[in-house]
Amino acid sequence: MINWVFKKILGTQNQREVRRLTPLVQEINRLEDGLRPLSFEELRSKTSAFRERIAQGEGVDAILPEAFAVVKNCCRRFTEEKRKIRVRGQEIPWEMIPFDVQLIGGMVLHSGRIAEMATGEGKTLVATLPTYLNALTGKGVHVVTVNDYLAARDSEWMGEVYRELGLTVGCLQHGQSQAERRAQYACDITYGTCSEFGFDYLRDNGMAATPEDQVQRGHFYAIIDEVDSILIDEARTPLIISGPVTVSTHQFDKYRSSIEGLVRKQNSLCTDWANQAKEKVEAGDLPGAGRLLFKVKLGSPRNKLLLKFMEDPGTRRAIDDAELEMYQDTRRTELYKTKEEMYFTIDERNSEADLSEMGRKFLNPSDPNFFLVPDLITINHDIDTNAAHSAEEKLKEKQAAQANYEEASQRIHNISQLLRAYCVFEKDVHYVVQENKVIIVDEYTGRLMPGRRWSDGLHQAVEAKEGVQIDRETQTLATITIQNYFRLYEKLAGMTGTAETEANEFKDIYRLGVVVIPTNRACVRKDADDLIFKTRREKLNALIEEIKKRNAAGQPMLVGTASVESSEIISRMLRRENIPHNVLNAKYHQQEAEIVARAGERGAVTIATNMAGRGTDIKLSPGVPELGGLHVVGTERHESRRIDRQLRGRCARQGDPGSSQFYISFEDDLMRNFGDSRRIAGLMTKLGMEDNEGLQHPWLNRSVETAQKRVEQRNYQIRKHTLQYDDVMNQQRTVIYSWRTEILTTEDPRKEVFETVDEKIGAEVEARAGTDPVDLDGLVHWANTAMPLGLQKEDLQNAGGKDQWKELLKRRVREAYELKVKFENPEAVKALERYVLLGAIDRLWQEHLYAMDGLRTSINLRAYGQKDPLIEYKREAYGMFEELMERIKGEVVLNLFRSASSLSAFEHFLAALPQRTGRGELPVQAQPTEASLSMGGGKAGAVEEALAPMKRQGPKQGRNDPCPLDPNKKFKNCCGASGSKVCFKVAA
Ligand code: ADP
Ligand code: MG
Repeated sequence: MINWVFKKILGTQNQREVRRLTPLVQEINRLEDGLRPLSFEELRSKTSAFRERIAQGEGVDAILPEAFAVVKNCCRRFTEEKRKIRVRGQEIPWEMIPFDVQLIGGMVLHSGRIAEMATGEGKTLVATLPTYLNALTGKGVHVVTVNDYLAARDSEWMGEVYRELGLTVGCLQHGQSQAERRAQYACDITYGTCSEFGFDYLRDNGMAATPEDQVQRGHFYAIIDEVDSILIDEARTPLIISGPVTVSTHQFDKYRSSIEGLVRKQNSLCTDWANQAKEKVEAGDLPGAGRLLFKVKLGSPRNKLLLKFMEDPGTRRAIDDAELEMYQDTRRTELYKTKEEMYFTIDERNSEADLSEMGRKFLNPSDPNFFLVPDLITINHDIDTNAAHSAEEKLKEKQAAQANYEEASQRIHNISQLLRAYCVFEKDVHYVVQENKVIIVDEYTGRLMPGRRWSDGLHQAVEAKEGVQIDRETQTLATITIQNYFRLYEKLAGMTGTAETEANEFKDIYRLGVVVIPTNRACVRKDADDLIFKTRREKLNALIEEIKKRNAAGQPMLVGTASVESSEIISRMLRRENIPHNVLNAKYHQQEAEIVARAGERGAVTIATNMAGRGTDIKLSPGVPELGGLHVVGTERHESRRIDRQLRGRCARQGDPGSSQFYISFEDDLMRNFGDSRRIAGLMTKLGMEDNEGLQHPWLNRSVETAQKRVEQRNYQIRKHTLQYDDVMNQQRTVIYSWRTEILTTEDPRKEVFETVDEKIGAEVEARAGTDPVDLDGLVHWANTAMPLGLQKEDLQNAGGKDQWKELLKRRVREAYELKVKFENPEAVKALERYVLLGAIDRLWQEHLYAMDGLRTSINLRAYGQKDPLIEYKREAYGMFEELMERIKGEVVLNLFRSASSLSAFEHFLAALPQRTGRGELPVQAQPTEASLSMGGGKAGAVEEALAPMKRQGPKQGRNDPCPLDPNKKFKNCCGASGSKVCFKVAA
């Protein structure tokens, strides 16, 4: 069998790779033969023998043939004994022994690459080979699936092999407790979705307060199933954990009703133009109509009349002509004038919205400039060149101008996000509203993505539009892109039916090569040319006719749609025709898997968005192969060719018969936005397209593919861009997270504390010593307000130079701290020291994330200033990060003496301080330290006051109780003292 596989003509590189692995396949099969006489017990003992060899230093590569043979042999035994396995509540008999191509797939996965294997080739089984092998190291192998259902299914199903061979298998599911999660990660093998893995990473590294809070144990090897869906489609939205916001600047609800009014005005304006265009068309003035419709397109791209005109090749061409003409350089002023004839313009392609003068006047008649970004460069220039003002005045003016600029930018940003929310984002297409929440619908897959949010205020803008609760209360607490999460693994591998079209991206971003594995049996699927229609209506009518015809014959059909909305339209049409069918839109994974599994039965009609039931095998029932097998219809070409291939691949698995065809129309989004409509319209005329009739021609397929390639390219650029920005964040995150991990895991957190404090002392001393004259008073003041050192100016004067000052301060800090620790519960000290550091890091890091979000938003405005926004972003982000590190150190110093494991420890420490201070200072009983004064705000009784909330709070403050200082917040969230028994704000 393997021989004819290799006779098949494949890409030469693949062919070479597959050929290279063939001897190993033979070796595995030879070894497997040798395993047959063994008892099951003896087979199982191989696992411990392998582990022993690895412990002795042998590499996994050397063990590969034997380990693969063991897995294969285990499968053979299962098959022979017809072992029944309980998978998601159903008994499935085991009946698979890895084919040779599957062994090759397993080797490709082991080598850290992507194995492209068609749907139905048994990738689930393929993954067990490298998973078993690599799990022998004990470092933990992660198998990533697209949803929770598949994680559970595969861990139960394939788990039988691992368990039989003496390995442990875990499975992550949404909603598991921390302890459960830790147990899953402790297993040799862990199945789970990419969000579960990613969020655990963020919680472990960004929020855990003790090592016991951490659940993961490293990132050794991950195999990603449906890798394209995860590393490409999902990678467009980063994983974000959000929490209560510290600052809120949005004004969406404030502007919402005026924007609604503005949109209404604009719509009626555009409808007028569209009506005028209609008259012009009737009068035979096509160019005139084109110009008017181009304006409509700018102002209201989803205008009904416009969409109708776009269907007609003649008017469509006129619109394109007008557009082409207007975008010529010589016509810039005219284009500008056109834009000024409406309230705002929408660029659907780039998802941008711009207010015009008219729009600004409408929103704020008294001051249209209210919605204009001030020209900071000119303003600053004017300030600089004003000879009448002093340098100090100029500085003030510049600061005021800067503040004004930032305020205006924020305002304009809010407005343009609202405009996008109203004019580009459609309910039930881009998002759905459920339980008073706006939930994003993945536009490729139709899958709901609860918990994910559009960034940059867009999500809030859509919430404002829908009149649901605007989640102003959330801000990013921790975030990572999927790209950067998976880059953490020492070794990464993936499998999918469709990777080849994206091979470049896998290579560039993840350094993952793609190897196309031949199918076990030749694929006999028939892919028909696309059928092209003028209008969506005609297309859908023809589609329903086709479904009726095939359904009457009993042939099963799978109808793939691009959105939830269009599945529902088709479902309505089928209901009218009394054709029984199932609709799936990737909301209920298990149920849908069961339905999809039956999509190959006689007479079944299944409508599904792309993601629905992915990963579930469609088997044909008896009699169906004779009818031609499963017929797959795409109701629209997706933006990406890969998704189309994925859909076609749902049929004709393992040598089954099957066929596929796409139905498209000029009204489809892809064609409207990216199609080379002029060329296609020309082709259609040439090919003699009649009304109401679909047209088929290989030329048309090629035009559609060109459009798709264009979108793919653009989407890749967007992902790359996101990543370039995240790379900056990633470096910073790595620094902070590894610092945090160090703190959590070190046996000596005090060393970390003092290192940090010493650095701060060093910086403070250098800063004061660097002035002329030396600022001794400032240094004494800083030291005494930050810490209870009772430092006198003379102490420093007697000590010598700045190096001695540093030494003196460091010594005093240690003495004071020794005293403090005396009153602490020795058990609690280490934890407290960790809190001192983590409290500072977490609170300020989250503030920093917030500021970085702001920087991201504002940086794009600088593109107008002819600066490269990415370079600017990197520069500023670097500066902000340095500042962050300094602030963390400062806060650690402050926290050091202000947090205690119990109130009495704190009080005893304060009481013990007077012996050390003396020298004319107020006795400590009345004013224990400068430090506690600065926090309490008074003199006598200051400590009482500062501690009062702490007393009220009592020793057993629960993490979910309200914070005594800010009852609106939960205790655990009020100051970033995550997990601390002491609220730092209260203690401080
Ligand atoms: P993929 O993920 O590649 O689309 P699956 O892992 O879902 O494929 O497997 C598809 C079907 O093929 C399953 O029903 C599985 O039981 C079957 N299968 C896989 N490998 C073999 C094998 N070696 N022999 C027989 N059946 C197999
Ligand atoms: Mg699969």
